Amino acid sequence: MGCRAASGRALQTVLRRDGSTSSTRSTTMSTESPIPSLPTKIDPARSKVPKPRHVPSVDSVTTINADGSRYFLHPADAHGWFTRWRRHSGLALIAFYLLLPWINVGGYPAVFLDVAERRFHFFGFTLAAQDVWLLFFGVSGLGFALFFLTALFGRLWCGWACPHTVYLDHVYRRIERMIDGDALQRRQLDLAPMGAGKLFRRVLKHGLYILASLFITHLFLSYFVSLPEVWHMMGEAPGEHRGMFLFVFIAAGILYFNFAWFREQLCIVLCPYGRLQSALTDDHSLVIGYDAKRGEPKGRLGTPDAGACVACNRCVQVCPTGIDIRHGLQMECVGCAACIDACDEVMAKVNRPKGLIRYDSLVGFAGGKTHWLRPRTIVYGILLLVGVGVATFAFSTVKPAGFTVMRMSSAAYFVTADDVRNQFMVRLLNKRNEPAVFTVSLDGLRAGFSQDGLTSAVTVAALAEQVSPLVLHVDRKHYTGPFKLKISVQDQSRTFTLTRQVEFLGPDARLLLEEDHDKGIKR
Ligand code: SF4
Ligand code: SF4
Repeated sequence: MGCRAASGRALQTVLRRDGSTSSTRSTTMSTESPIPSLPTKIDPARSKVPKPRHVPSVDSVTTINADGSRYFLHPADAHGWFTRWRRHSGLALIAFYLLLPWINVGGYPAVFLDVAERRFHFFGFTLAAQDVWLLFFGVSGLGFALFFLTALFGRLWCGWACPHTVYLDHVYRRIERMIDGDALQRRQLDLAPMGAGKLFRRVLKHGLYILASLFITHLFLSYFVSLPEVWHMMGEAPGEHRGMFLFVFIAAGILYFNFAWFREQLCIVLCPYGRLQSALTDDHSLVIGYDAKRGEPKGRLGTPDAGACVACNRCVQVCPTGIDIRHGLQMECVGCAACIDACDEVMAKVNRPKGLIRYDSLVGFAGGKTHWLRPRTIVYGILLLVGVGVATFAFSTVKPAGFTVMRMSSAAYFVTADDVRNQFMVRLLNKRNEPAVFTVSLDGLRAGFSQDGLTSAVTVAALAEQVSPLVLHVDRKHYTGPFKLKISVQDQSRTFTLTRQVEFLGPDARLLLEEDHDKGIKR
């Protein structure tokens, strides 16, 4: 019992809203939360035994206890320039994601990956399944761009644009902040025994998490089947669209698990990019770091010979991955810049220059000059330029039509009393979002040659394909053996020509000559 009481006292060591730590006797939830005040008093005798207070170190991950269990973080709110602009850019990115399926370009959503029809629409540019190889350039281009940007700016992507960070910070943490209050209130609520008030908040918060996850998943689905189709499917019984229902169910479940519980663990233990960054960056790359030259030795205000750091721990309290940036660059740092704002706020309060924690290179923190142009950035830059050049060329070769010629099954050629015959199937594919008229022409013809099929222009509906027979004949008396010819397709405005070479097959011409001679047919 004595132990429990001691534990209860330990629970009461909490964070003040200004960031400093303090022992307090108050165990009642603050009333600042927009949710009506609910009975959430902590009874130390009934509350769960707290985990020991975590002090970040470079030897272990703060969010994992020594016994392997999870230590759930409640990062404090940061306020400042970076927090404000991260919020603006995060909300703009979310709006971009939400609006894309609603924006119509050329009769289709701006981004529509129509897997069922094997057509991929990007802002009015349509790729057919045959053009999917171009995605290789898109993906590798993104990879090279990430290499280049990481070498220059470190983990700017993680902190400002990664969908995981954007949704966690600007959707799920906002819901949590709205329902459970600030970091202090959240921690107290976590430690409080389950009662009506806590249950109400938990149900409300997780209900909103589930709704947000379902919304994001449905919108994601609309990138593949279009919004009207998603809407139509939602109006029908799940059994009518079992596959889609299962997909939404599983994807929303994964999102909910990730954003409600897993959170920063994804960045720390799953995402390979965090590990890659140590290979992609060097001492001149931009990182978020602590100016130890200026900050050390730490000391409370008024401590003789102390550096600029007042050891308030505010930078640790706001960190969403629970690290202490004063220990140096760490893999867990997702570059969210919350510690910059937190420290700048403290520096402003104690009338010291801002920037004790700031964006700079390791060389810059050591007092040197950062070089942007260096072998690593030059090599990555050249790779990126080559990639962009090749991708631009590859995309410029994409024609708004496709065309294949296949020999009909059965015999490769037919010999009749009058001629030698080859039969083909010509497949014309219109990749445009409007009907197109094509003309098919033959090149390399010989005397005695004739054709059946495709003698006049062919109209193919928008995003459709048409398969037509093409039969080629050569009179027996003009037949001199197999030969090659070209089949070309042009659109009506002659903006492009597609050409395929085929071979006209047949027997050895001497055999036909002997046969005709035996039959008394004169040539
Ligand atoms: S680095 Fe800044 S925020 Fe962090 S403990 Fe020192 S003064 Fe406080
Ligand atoms: S150390 Fe600073 S920038 Fe890095 S994750 Fe923590 S708060 Fe964000």
